[in-house]
Amino acid sequence: MLALSGTGIGRGIAIGRALVLDAPQHEVPHFQIDVKRIDDEILRFNQAISAVRQELQHLQSNLPPTAPPETGAFIDVHLLMLDDPLISKEPAESIRCEQINAEWALSNHAQTLVAFFDNISDPYLRTKKDDVAQVVGRIMDILTQQPERHPNLSSMEPALTDRIIVARDLSPADAVMLRHRSMAAFVTSLGGPISHTAILARSLGIPAIVGLHGVIDTIRDQDELIVDAASGTVLVSPDERLLKQFELLQARQHEERQALAKVGEKRAATLDDEEMTLLANIELPEDLDALAGSGAAGVGLYRTEFLFMNRTEPPGEEEQYQAYSQIINAVNGPVTIRTLDLGADKQVDGGRDEPKAAMTPALGLRAIRLCLSEPSLFKPQLRAILRAAVHGDVQMMIPMLSSLSELEQSLSLIREVCAELERESAVFKPNIPIGGMIEVPAAAIAADLFAQKLDFLSIGTNDLIQYTLAIDRVDDAVNYLYDPLHPSVLRLVRNIIQAGKAAGIPVSMCGEMAGDPLFTRLLMGLGLRQFSMEPSQLLEIRQQVRQTRLSAVPEWIERILTCTDTNALHGLVDQLNAQECV
Ligand code: PEP
Ligand code: MG
Repeated sequence: MLALSGTGIGRGIAIGRALVLDAPQHEVPHFQIDVKRIDDEILRFNQAISAVRQELQHLQSNLPPTAPPETGAFIDVHLLMLDDPLISKEPAESIRCEQINAEWALSNHAQTLVAFFDNISDPYLRTKKDDVAQVVGRIMDILTQQPERHPNLSSMEPALTDRIIVARDLSPADAVMLRHRSMAAFVTSLGGPISHTAILARSLGIPAIVGLHGVIDTIRDQDELIVDAASGTVLVSPDERLLKQFELLQARQHEERQALAKVGEKRAATLDDEEMTLLANIELPEDLDALAGSGAAGVGLYRTEFLFMNRTEPPGEEEQYQAYSQIINAVNGPVTIRTLDLGADKQVDGGRDEPKAAMTPALGLRAIRLCLSEPSLFKPQLRAILRAAVHGDVQMMIPMLSSLSELEQSLSLIREVCAELERESAVFKPNIPIGGMIEVPAAAIAADLFAQKLDFLSIGTNDLIQYTLAIDRVDDAVNYLYDPLHPSVLRLVRNIIQAGKAAGIPVSMCGEMAGDPLFTRLLMGLGLRQFSMEPSQLLEIRQQVRQTRLSAVPEWIERILTCTDTNALHGLVDQLNAQECV
């Protein structure tokens, strides 16, 4: 038996068999071939191309009914790539003229194609290089006769019940593919507690371990695993005694969750009757199922960028209108639609290698910056949101604001879009509340100025912590610095809440901090009244609210905010949480 440890997400336990996903690193063999072998080598190459074509066509015609709708388009792109002369014809020419082996010839031409896409300024087209890599990987698998170890996520068996996914990393785009496969848990080499991989685990309500270095080389497919998220441990090939012990613990957790389910029907009010608004974060219309029984008062964060992933073209206005309307019609309560937050780790069409391509992508052309620089991408979304807003109580929220001029430009674009819709006599709602995510320290410090021009603020602690503490949220090497209780973070959070109060506008929090019961009392004490989180966290937070006597909290807040010792500060928060407020 082997015990490995990383950063645990959630507190659950999963027991199951490993499904190791990872692209094999191809060692491309380079050698000259004898002139007599040229025809055989070309035949070998052509046979590999035909085999991949058949494989893709088979996948295409055997898509399970539960496969995400974009899967077919995804495979079509790969089939088209396969027909590109640089992949399927020119390597054969090189084999003949340069007398080199098929793998070498293919890798030379594939590099030319990747370089071509790399130099395109359009970010959608640029991401096509990932398709090239995937198609070339399939051909190389056959040429080098490596069994495929990374089943394309789109083609995986639909249900992965009792399987524990083990991967180097899961991009947000992989997450979209995986979210309805009922896997038991996942374990990744990369990622930190606020990476989108971790957010995926919370949103699915499953345990996960991230930042477990070398896991890919240690765990083999079908290994029996126990994942214990509370301790951040993975046990590989556990003995009978441990299996029994963890099965018992798992059963106890299951009972606790069932008992917690009753809380969903009860008011989210403290013992001294201060009402909190508890909202859900969602990413796709399919997430609506998770809202049932969660007691969510509405959606506090709808991350629209997930609609743009795993596809080559962005969704048009009509498709967006349909998706937003579906959500608005289904949610019993307000829906806050966040405009596109693409960029950094959230790329269109996978973008597995994209973050490494830019030097510091989290500081780059992301979210509102990208949208303002590409009105042809942004305007259809604004139009779709304003049109869908007639179906319910809708607010629009702008991510990653860092300057007031970005806010002005966004508001002026919204006015422009309203005027256009007016001229077209379209059915839309013009004056919906417009809010801003406060997640860049610049905006948090000047929150009073942003508050004057916005209808509400929402604190994005995931990015606020990343930018304030200068720790890349996807880089597990700096995980150890992640600390929502850092005095700078707490002061910024307090500043934003106070700015909202002074301007008379609501302030919510939609980062992961809002869904962690460790911080509920503290945040209520700082004046927060709206919390938005992954649906799986809602019951626990509701229970924590119901067990708090708010009038007893302020004296702790002063002590916490003035504490100068990190350990003591964490100790104070633990003591606050341990108070029997009944
Ligand atoms: C955040 O930054 O806290 C947030 C909620 O947005 P995202 O995690 O999508 O960046
Ligand atoms: Mg954010």
